[in-house]
Amino acid sequence: MDERLLTDAAIRANRYLVSLKTRAVAPTEEAVERIDRLCGPLPEDGEDPSSVLELLDELGSPATVASAGGRYFGFVIGSALPAALAANWLAGAWDQNTAVESMSPVAARLETTALEWIGDSLGIPPNARGAFVTGDTMANFSGLAAARHSVLEAAGWDVEARGLFGAPPVTVVVGDEVHVSVLKALALIGFGRDRVVRVPTDEQGRMRVDQVPDLHGPTVVCAQAGNVNTGAFDPVREICERAHREGAWVHVDAAFGLWANASPGRRALTAGVEEADSWAIDAHKWLNVPYDSGVVFVREGRHLRAAMSGAPAAYLPQSVRGEPMEYVPEMSRRARGVDAWAALRSLGRSGLSELVERSCRHASRMATLLQSGGCRILNEVVLNQVLVSFGSDDETRRVIDAVQRDGTCWCGGTVWHGTAAMRISVSSWATTEDDIERSAAAILRVASNLTT
Ligand SMILES: *Cc1c(COP(=O)(O)O)cnc(C)c1O
Repeated sequence: MDERLLTDAAIRANRYLVSLKTRAVAPTEEAVERIDRLCGPLPEDGEDPSSVLELLDELGSPATVASAGGRYFGFVIGSALPAALAANWLAGAWDQNTAVESMSPVAARLETTALEWIGDSLGIPPNARGAFVTGDTMANFSGLAAARHSVLEAAGWDVEARGLFGAPPVTVVVGDEVHVSVLKALALIGFGRDRVVRVPTDEQGRMRVDQVPDLHGPTVVCAQAGNVNTGAFDPVREICERAHREGAWVHVDAAFGLWANASPGRRALTAGVEEADSWAIDAHKWLNVPYDSGVVFVREGRHLRAAMSGAPAAYLPQSVRGEPMEYVPEMSRRARGVDAWAALRSLGRSGLSELVERSCRHASRMATLLQSGGCRILNEVVLNQVLVSFGSDDETRRVIDAVQRDGTCWCGGTVWHGTAAMRISVSSWATTEDDIERSAAAILRVASNLTT
C-alpha cells in the first residue's frame, strides 16, 4: 500500500476542519449539485486510490454540512473531539471486529473500560451491564428488549423462544413528549407504537406523575431524561417509586440529558435516574465522538443477555460473562469503544464536566443575547437547549429559513405547544464564546432585516 495515501487523507482532513472556521455552515446549492459527479453507474474499471480520495475531497467536502464546526446548532449534534477522531482513524486501520472477544482483545477491553467510565460519570449503578450500539434509537431498542424479557419472564412467558403470539399483554406507559425513537423501538420489538398509554406532560414537557394510571401486570414505563426541545427531565425518582411499587420496569431515554450528571452544577436535574432499570444514551451527541455511537445499560445484565443472545453455534465461542455479541443486536460490529475511550481519556473527569457545563453556559448566553434583542424564549433554559420565537409562526419560520441561508450558523425549527419555534442545541466541544456572539448577532441581524 502507498503510505502517502493516509498522509494525504490526514492533510485533506486537517484542511477541511480549518475551512469550517470561515465557510458557511450549510453547503451552497452549487456544491450540492456537484455531488452528482460522484454518482452514476459503477465504472467498469477501477481507479487509483489517491485519485478516488482527491475526487471525494474536491466534490464531497464542500457539500458537507459543517456540523463538525462550532456554529451548528441543529437537532442535537455533537462534533468529534480531536482525540476521538484520531483514535477513530487508527481504529479504522486496525479494522477490528468486536463480535467476540478473541477477534480483538484490545477492542473488547477498551469497550468495557469506556463503558465503565461512561456508567460511572453518568451515575449508572456500578453492576449494570453496558453495551455499545449505533445510537440512542438502538439503545432504546435494546433496553426495551431487555424490559420485554424481564416483565414477560416474570409472567411465566419465554418471549425470545415463543415470540409475542399468545403472550400475556404488556402495558407500556410513555409521557406525551416521548421521543419518536422510543415509539420506533416499541414498534420493532412488537409492543406497537399506538398501543401505549400516554401520560400528560407539564409546560416544560415533563411527565406528570400524578397522571400516571394504576399499573397492573407486566408493565414497562418509559421516562425521558432531556426533552429534545426543552432539555427538561421527567421526575425519574417519582416515576421509579410509582412503577417499582407495582413491579414495573422503568426505561429511561437519556440520549443527551444524562450527560448532565457529569457536571456537578447540573446533577440535580437527573435526581433518581440511578433507580431505573435500563438507560439509553448517545455517545455521538454530547460526548462528541464520531458517528455512530450509543450505549445501553441494563441494571440486571442477564435480561439484556437473554434478549440479545441468539441460538448457540458450534463455531462461535461461549464464555461465562458472555461475549460482546450476546449483549447487542448485531454480530459483527466496529470498535466503537475505541473512540469513546479516547474521548474520555483526553477529557478526564474534569474535562467532561467542563464540556457539559460550557455547552449549557453557551446555551444560556445565546438565550440572553436573543432575549435582549427582542426575541421570546419559550423554555426554561436548564440545559443546552433553547427555543426561540420571532413573533408569529410565519415570522419564526421565515427567520429560521433565512438564518440557514445566511450561513453564519445553522438552527432548525420545531413546534412547541402549538407555537413555531427555532431550536438551538449547543452540543459541540468546538463551540466557543465567539461562535455564540457571532451566531446571536447573525440571527438578530437576519430577523431585523426580514421585519424592516
Ligand atoms: C437524539 C435522540 C434520540 C435518537 O438518538 P439517535 O442516536 O439519533 O438514534 C432519542 N431520544 C432523544 C431524547 C434524543 O435526543
